[in-house]
Amino acid sequence: MRPFTFFERFYKAFHDYPSLSKILVVSTISGGGLIVYSEANGSYSNNGVETETRKKKVVLLGTGWAGASFLKTLNNSSYEVQVISPRNYFAFTPLLPSVTCGTVEARSVVEPIRNIGRKNVEMSFLEAECVRIDPRSKKVYCRSKQGVNSSGKREFDVDYDYLVIATGAQSNTFNIPGVEENCHFLKEVEDAQRIRSTVIDSFEKASLPGLNQEERKRMLHFVVVGGGPTGVEFASELHDFVNEDLVKLYPKAKNLVQITLLEAADHILTMFDKRITEFAEEKFSRDGIDVKLGSMVVKVNDKEISAKTKGGEFSTIPYGMIVWSTGIGTRPVIKDFMKQIGQGNRRALATDEWLRVEGCDNIYALGDCATINQRKVMEDIAAIFKKADKENSGTLTMKEFHEVMSDICDRYPQVDLYLKSKGMHGITDLLKQAQADNGSNKSVELDIEELKSALCQVDSQVKLLPATGQVAAQQGTYLAKCFDRMEVCEKNPEGPIRIRGEGRHRFRPFRYRHLGQFAPLGGEQTAAQLPGDWVSIGHSSQWLWYSVYASKQVSWRTRVLVVSDWMRRFIFGRDSSRI
Ligand code: FAD
Ligand code: MG
Repeated sequence: MRPFTFFERFYKAFHDYPSLSKILVVSTISGGGLIVYSEANGSYSNNGVETETRKKKVVLLGTGWAGASFLKTLNNSSYEVQVISPRNYFAFTPLLPSVTCGTVEARSVVEPIRNIGRKNVEMSFLEAECVRIDPRSKKVYCRSKQGVNSSGKREFDVDYDYLVIATGAQSNTFNIPGVEENCHFLKEVEDAQRIRSTVIDSFEKASLPGLNQEERKRMLHFVVVGGGPTGVEFASELHDFVNEDLVKLYPKAKNLVQITLLEAADHILTMFDKRITEFAEEKFSRDGIDVKLGSMVVKVNDKEISAKTKGGEFSTIPYGMIVWSTGIGTRPVIKDFMKQIGQGNRRALATDEWLRVEGCDNIYALGDCATINQRKVMEDIAAIFKKADKENSGTLTMKEFHEVMSDICDRYPQVDLYLKSKGMHGITDLLKQAQADNGSNKSVELDIEELKSALCQVDSQVKLLPATGQVAAQQGTYLAKCFDRMEVCEKNPEGPIRIRGEGRHRFRPFRYRHLGQFAPLGGEQTAAQLPGDWVSIGHSSQWLWYSVYASKQVSWRTRVLVVSDWMRRFIFGRDSSRI
């Protein structure tokens, strides 16, 4: 291509930046003195009004599953992203139980957040915790762990155009006395590392001279509280570590080690199919893991844990180490924000189906810190009828109904779920059924009462999405794609029609696709529950687990590290050095 001549460059500069002419005029008036004029953000039109060339600033809070998948997908250079999180890496949480026993090393499951994200999106990172969100001034207030300036000031604030809240949740102690002080949690990489060294410490302590058998037994009593996937996986990892590696190195400890799992409900792994629950309970009993069902922990001190059964019996058990894994609670910054926006009585931030925080402009929330408040069909039924009845005749013809049908299914995912649960192929089946039930199957038009009775059951299918990485990651990807197409969809909306307004929604609402879940049970056996209630348990599912978890790694680097850790473990066993 021919290079520009000096004059062409000069002309182009004035054309692209009209404000340059002002500088020239000013510099001529000022007698040729040099004026430096810098426009960091945006340009000015001739009448001095700022035009929309400034990049929109997206502030992203959190670098977990939701935040990382948002960053990984966002691919529109018209945004600048400011990431704020107390940790500068993403952690692959499903492998944390493996980190507790050295099956996988901690560094193999983390990826620096600065490595995640597309090249053409300007991204910067601040290692700090957000302590307050102010939606009125569009600012977040943050605190770093380190002093940020010479006076050691740790607080600062950041403005946003769009705020994406993905701060996850924290472990829930239910305010049970002594839990916070005496139990280990398994939420972060540091937790897993601490558990690993405490397990080794327990074996070393129990090997010291001058202890009686009772004391040694107590030190080697490992208690897991919570029979969900994390608690169960940790218990089985620990069982394998003890039986495959540690008893060879600490032969005297063999008959003293005990693993106990306390669960308040009647079964463990209640979110899984019954076959998996039964298999897991039987396997644990064969393995000698003592599963105490219906046991509610009421108190913990530095040596004993007290539980109450449903029948009201108290028992106190001496322990060496407790891992607490009973579910999640709200982070203080989210609680405070929820109070500000009138959601104070909720457990998580309520968003609409587009992940926008209810009642807030330009604030989105996703992952464990949020729940989608799915609108109910029955709340909107009159508006749906009105929208569909274009001629205002008071009845709906099948043609009128068909015209809004796909929008209704898009807007209210519970309709599809309900049809599936009833084995129906389309919404017309539902209408025919309702008309038959009403004894009016001859009629080809539908009145509002018939529409109501056809759809009155569908809202029973509204379900809260589980707090899993799978949901958080899909939400992150969805939101980034919406951001990418924000401008395009503003002009050409692609969502369903607005039931209570004009036109269409910009985007289709978020839809979760469940890809299945695993429960590793130790001894190279895993239970897998895949979509369509397909259940598989045993060694073959363990290989499926290995391949899925290897493929889900965020980078090739961690993929190679994780697979080589698994191979190292197969060949040499787990490392029991206390470092
Ligand atoms: P997180 O991943 O928890 O990320 C939250 C982020 O916010 C972190 O970076 C955190 O440092 C940051 N943050 C916290 N406070 C602030 C603040 N004040 N300001 C700014 N940033 C903040 N899910 C599955 O689907 N499959 C599994 O197999 C599975 N296994 C699991 C095993 C374990 C041991 C655990 C603990 C969880 C497991 N989960 C699994 C659940 C999954 O990890 C969570 O659902 C998921 O991490 C939620 O993603 P998130 O982005 O909402 O939050
Ligand atoms: Mg009509």
